[in-house]
Amino acid sequence: MMARKTKKTGISGRFGARYGVTIRKRIRDVEREKVKKHLCPSCNHKAVKRVDTGIWRCRKCGTTFAGGAYRPMGSRSFRRTTQEPVLEKPDEEAEEE
Ligand SMILES: [Zn+2]
Repeated sequence: MMARKTKKTGISGRFGARYGVTIRKRIRDVEREKVKKHLCPSCNHKAVKRVDTGIWRCRKCGTTFAGGAYRPMGSRSFRRTTQEPVLEKPDEEAEEE
């Protein structure tokens, strides 16, 4: 019991110090995802750009489709198709007090 309490404080303390950095990194990554071109699911060209939140359009074939707010597809399948490293909610579960 006592040992656990001490450990918990230590973890949350360390997490507090890291939290700002993690958030900033995530925001920066999201911003980058939002702006850069993505792979088109219909013609496979990297010409998909965000038109609006959750709306994407391929400039190559003209396909408009709904997707994620910050990237065309769900982050999981998207990562698998493009092989790009995507930061996915790091340390989120540590929020439990
Ligand atoms: Zn296309």
